[in-house]
Amino acid sequence: MSLYVKKFGGSSVANAERVFNVANIIVEDYKKGNDVIVVVSAQGDTTDDLIAKAREINPKGASKREMDVLLTAGEQISISLLAMAIEKLGYPVISLLGWQAGFNTDSNHCIARIKNINTERMKNELDKKKIIIVAGFQGIDKYDDLTTLGRGGSDTSAVAIAAAMKADRCQIYTDVDGVYTSDPRKVKFAKKLDEITYDEMLELATLGAQVLNNRSVEMAKKHNVELEVLSSLEKKPGTIVKEKVKMEKILIRGVAKDMDVSIISVIGLKDNPGIAFKLFNALAQNKIEVDMILQSVGRDGTKDISFSVKRSESENAMRTIDSFRENLEFESIKCSNNVAKVSIVGAGMESHPGVASKMFEALYDNQINIQMISTSEIKISVIIDEKYADKALTVVHDKFFG
Ligand code: ASP
Ligand code: MG
Repeated sequence: MSLYVKKFGGSSVANAERVFNVANIIVEDYKKGNDVIVVVSAQGDTTDDLIAKAREINPKGASKREMDVLLTAGEQISISLLAMAIEKLGYPVISLLGWQAGFNTDSNHCIARIKNINTERMKNELDKKKIIIVAGFQGIDKYDDLTTLGRGGSDTSAVAIAAAMKADRCQIYTDVDGVYTSDPRKVKFAKKLDEITYDEMLELATLGAQVLNNRSVEMAKKHNVELEVLSSLEKKPGTIVKEKVKMEKILIRGVAKDMDVSIISVIGLKDNPGIAFKLFNALAQNKIEVDMILQSVGRDGTKDISFSVKRSESENAMRTIDSFRENLEFESIKCSNNVAKVSIVGAGMESHPGVASKMFEALYDNQINIQMISTSEIKISVIIDEKYADKALTVVHDKFFG
C-alpha cells in the first residue's frame, strides 16, 4: 500500500465531465488499496474571473487580504464538486480547505509561504480510509486570516503535502503529457522527456516553460520529493523530475523562450571605479531584479552599460536610473522592449565543450543577430530581436534535437 499525492490543475477539472474523469483516476488508485490525497486548483479560468470581479469593484486594486478571501473561494468550489463526484461513484471522501488540512503560512497575502503543515487532520481522515481532497494554493496565517500562495500555487501545496506526509508518489496532472524539450505548440519536433533534474526544471520554469510552478520545484528539491508530470486526459507515462538523471549523450535538456524581457542601456557613463556599483545598487534598492549585464567601451573615457529586466519592471528601472542622474553622470538612457531571450538548459553542457558554439551556429545559419549573451553552469541565454523569437526557438532546438 502506498500514499499517492495527486494534483490536478484548473483545466483538468474545468467542467462536470472533466471532474468525473479526475474522480475516476483517483478511484482507480484508491481501489488498489492505496491512500490518496488530492490537491486541486480552481476550475478553468475561475481565478482570473475572480480577479476581474475585484477590479470591477476597485480598479486600483483591493487590499491583499480581501483578495485572498476572494481567491480562496475558487478552490472551495472545485474541492466540493470533486468530492461530490467521488461520493457519487460510491467511495468515501472528504474535502478540506487549506486551513482544515493544516496549512500554516506567513502573512504575506497573495504570495504567502508555507511555514508548516499540521498533518493531524489528514492522518485521521486517512485512518478512516477516506480519499482527501485539499484546496490548493491556500492556507491560514497566525491571525487566522486566509492566505494564498501566489498564482499557480497549487503545485506547491501538493509538493508540501507529499513532503509532510512522506508520500510515495507526487503526481502533477495537467493538460499536457509531460515536460518537453521545447514548447510543442511552437516547435514541431519537440520531444517529451522521460526525466529531468530539479535544476534543469527550475531553469526551464523561470525561462517560461510553465509546466510546473517554480516554488514547487524548489520545494521538491529541498525535500527530495520526486515529481511526476503527466496528463489527466491521456493514460501514459509522464516526465519524472528528480535530483539526478541518466545523462547518456544528451547535451541539453530543453530550449525555452521568454518574451518578458526588456533591455535598458545607460550610455556614456564615466569610466571610473564604482560606477557599476552605484548603478546596480540603485536598482537593487528599488528591488529591481537584473538578469544579464553587458558593459562596453564608449567614447572619450566613457562606457555604456546595458542590462536586462522583466518587461513589467522596465519603466521602474528607467525612472530609478533617471532619479540618480546627478550621482551617476551619464549621457542618456534608452529602453528596448522588442527583444526576447532564448535559452538552452542542460546539466550535460558542463562536461561538453562546444555547446555554446553549436547554439550560436544555429542562429548564424539563420542570420539572427545576438545582442547579449549570458552563461551559467547549466544554461546559455541570448537576447535577440523579438520578431525572431519563434524562429530561434525552432532552429536552436532542431540543431540539438533534430
Ligand atoms: N487557482 C490558482 C491560479 O490560477 C492556483 C493554481 O492554479 O494553482 O493561480
Ligand atoms: Mg488556475
